Amino acid sequence: MNVFALITNPTEAIPLTEDIFYSRTNRKPPYIQSFGGKMNSYALCPSCQNPVLMVNRTATETRSGSFYAKHNKGDVPGVAQYHEHKYLNCPLANPARMDEKKRRPPARQGQSDEVKNALIEAFDLVMNFIESDTGVKFQDSIVEDMLDDFSKNRGYEYSAINLYNLPYAFAYMTESKDIFGCSVSKEIADAIGKNSKGFSTKQFHSNYYIKREEGSRSKIRLMFYGHAESVKDGGNEAIIMRIVEVPPGADVDAAEHLYQKKIVLDGAKFFNFYMKRKRRVDMARSKLR
Ligand SMILES: [Zn+2]
Repeated sequence: MNVFALITNPTEAIPLTEDIFYSRTNRKPPYIQSFGGKMNSYALCPSCQNPVLMVNRTATETRSGSFYAKHNKGDVPGVAQYHEHKYLNCPLANPARMDEKKRRPPARQGQSDEVKNALIEAFDLVMNFIESDTGVKFQDSIVEDMLDDFSKNRGYEYSAINLYNLPYAFAYMTESKDIFGCSVSKEIADAIGKNSKGFSTKQFHSNYYIKREEGSRSKIRLMFYGHAESVKDGGNEAIIMRIVEVPPGADVDAAEHLYQKKIVLDGAKFFNFYMKRKRRVDMARSKLR
C-alpha cells in the first residue's frame, strides 16, 4: 500500500514516501526498531490498524523505485498488535487489480455497502476529483451514463474498489464516453488542436469547449484503461486516460489517439477529504436539530 498511519491518529491515511515517513516519525522508536538483528521501519495500516512494515524497492531496483508498506503478520511492540481477522477483511491487504473484475465474497458485503454509500453521500466530491485529475468537465448527461454503467455492473461489489481509490476506480469501471460538448483543460485543448481532424475547441473565459469541425462525422471519446505498476500489497497504482477520435463507422480500437495521460492513484487524498467532510456534516447534523 502507499499510505500509512501514526499511533497518534491511527485512521488518518498519510501518503507514503520515504521523506514523509521519516519526517512524520522522526526516525524514532517504535517506528524504527530492530528485529532479528535488522533495523526495520513500521507504522499502522490506516484501514485495519494492524502493524505495517516498510519495504524499500530502491535498494534493488532503480533510484525511482518506490517505498511501500505491507501488513506485518505479527505484533510490533509499541506500534500495534496483529489481528488476523481485521487483516483478512482489510481493503488495503492484497488489493485486487481493477482489471481482474473480481467480486467480493458475500462475507464482505459490508465493504460493498460502504463503497456504495460513500459514492452516494460524496458523489460531488468523487466527480470533483475525476474532473480535476482528468482535466475534463463533464455534462450531467454523461455523468448520468457513468452512474448507469456502474449501477448495472454493480461496480461497488468489485474487490478492487474501496474508499481509498473511489474516484479512480469509479472512473475506470465506466464504459468509454462521448465527450463532445464538454469543456477541457488547455493541455487537452492544445492536443485536440494539434492531433484532431474532426474536432477543435472554442475558448470561453478559461474553459475550452469541444466543438465539431464542419462536415465531420467522427466521434470523440474518453476512456480509462490499464492498471500500471501494480505490485502485490503495495506500490503505485495508476490508470491511463485516453481521448480518441473515432472515424464514422470505425471501431474504438481503430481510433486515433488525441491525448493520453497517466493518473497515479493517491490513496490518501480522497479518503482524508471524504472523512473530514463526513465528520463535519455529521457535526452540523447533530448540532442543528
Ligand atoms: Zn489493513
